[in-house]
Amino acid sequence: MVVTGDSVVDGECLLCRVAEADAYFQRRRVWADAHWRLSVLLQGPVAGFAHLEPRRHIPYVTELDGPEAATLGPVLARATAALREATGADKVYVYVFGDRVPHLHFNLAPHHPGGALAGGPGLLRPGAALVSADAHEAAAAAVARLLG
Ligand SMILES: [Zn+2]
Repeated sequence: MVVTGDSVVDGECLLCRVAEADAYFQRRRVWADAHWRLSVLLQGPVAGFAHLEPRRHIPYVTELDGPEAATLGPVLARATAALREATGADKVYVYVFGDRVPHLHFNLAPHHPGGALAGGPGLLRPGAALVSADAHEAAAAAVARLLG
């Protein structure tokens, strides 16, 4: 099965129904601890493409808190290092979207030069208009103010 379309089935969270998610994405659990699980997809254009997701339902990265927030750094470092070594990749891309599955998950994608992944510029729509300098200044100032 090729993974396409909306992954929220019947208004419930697919990633909270782990066995169903594993079947849907054709993925295999390779590691888990009290707060996180790491699953490697067994289909698609990138060998070693993995989902790192909290066991607890946390919809978006902007709602990350508690023990998952406290442990993310070490878990992400360990998982990406293992994926890089296991696949011989030069680096591992990390993507977080939340558009299709409202359960926080980090898409970990081993990158090989000339491989399937377009990298950061590939995330922009071709011909996307530039934002004004004022909008950039306003965003930077607002973030700085919010973080104190
Ligand atoms: Zn969930």
